Amino acid sequence: MTHSTGTLYIVSAPSGAGKTSLVKALIDLEPQIRVSVSHTTRAMRPGEVNGVNYHFVEREEFVKMIEHGDFLERAEVFGNLYGTSQSHLQQTLDEGHDLILEIDWQGAEQVRQLMPQARSIFILPPSQQALRERLDNRGQDSDEIIDGRMREAVSEMSHYVDYDYLIINDDFALALEDLKAIFRANRLQQKRQQQRFGKLLAELLG
Ligand code: 5GP
Repeated sequence: MTHSTGTLYIVSAPSGAGKTSLVKALIDLEPQIRVSVSHTTRAMRPGEVNGVNYHFVEREEFVKMIEHGDFLERAEVFGNLYGTSQSHLQQTLDEGHDLILEIDWQGAEQVRQLMPQARSIFILPPSQQALRERLDNRGQDSDEIIDGRMREAVSEMSHYVDYDYLIINDDFALALEDLKAIFRANRLQQKRQQQRFGKLLAELLG
């Protein structure tokens, strides 16, 4: 049995919608799915680990990487630069792994242009109030930053229309089931199954 090429997934959500927790829960269940680690110029939050949550770099280094053409996509979000490095991306897909990019809508637009075969998923909170509570509960940012992030969130949410799939994260377990279902259904596409079960199909039709 040979493996098929992996699918590239874009996952976007306003900050506080639970995107990172959902993606983490998914890869805990399905470790063959990979998550791309972005580069960012933003300051590290307590508990974050360099090279795990992000590659934390100075603006100067980020700009050098832009000049070298290192990024598949990049965007400025709330005053900080974020980008997906090209290295390992194609290799990971060629190895048959599905790969998740947790990026904003601006990055999603760039990736859709470059890789139209990518599937995109938008995650929404059940209400504005729930979003605010989740941002407050993080307890890591000041009120000013939270207000700013609420405004950003509303503008980010308006872009859900450009995505293939929409998940409302009200009940975490249900949202996780939805996310799993998207990946599973994509793996069952006839073209992918054909690659995966080439030998079986040849035998069946022989
Ligand atoms: P945070 O600072 O809360 O981790 O992320 C802020 C926003 O930046 C989120 O919407 C997140 O999806 C987005 N983001 C994180 N990494 C990237 C990236 O590599 N590219 C783009 N375009 N957005 C990113």
